[in-house]
Amino acid sequence: MESEIRVHVIKTVCSMCGDKKGKGRHHLIPRQYGGEDTRTIPICKYCHVAIHQRISNRKLLLQYNSLPKLLTYKEKYGLSRLPSIRCRRIEYNISKIEAKNKQKLQKEMERLKEIENEIREEQKLYEAEQILKFMRNGKWKA
Ligand SMILES: [Zn+2]
Ligand SMILES: [Zn+2]
Repeated sequence: MESEIRVHVIKTVCSMCGDKKGKGRHHLIPRQYGGEDTRTIPICKYCHVAIHQRISNRKLLLQYNSLPKLLTYKEKYGLSRLPSIRCRRIEYNISKIEAKNKQKLQKEMERLKEIENEIREEQKLYEAEQILKFMRNGKWKA
């Protein structure tokens, strides 16, 4: 279970441009349309802003809801940022989403550690029981 999360953390190459700083996650199904817990792709900040600047959430949902489709868009129209005032607002929203994702991941990690501890406690109990059984059977002579 831990390794799954590790893959999630390490996979930080941008799906759109190959930049190594693909630390963000783009929801293939826009969160506005219920995509909160659906598939995401790693993406760099530049490409992420460009995508949301150029393509509306409705279009993302209907036409560009997979990586190959997004790459086709890039091939056709390019993915440079458009100069506009919306840019900064989008950038701000994305940074908020990224902070939330980070928090979520941290919570998952904490939960995993808890589970690990629980398992360890159970194991200790089991071992203690085994020793007790052993002693009761009179096979334990120090
Ligand atoms: Zn990129
Ligand atoms: Zn996005």
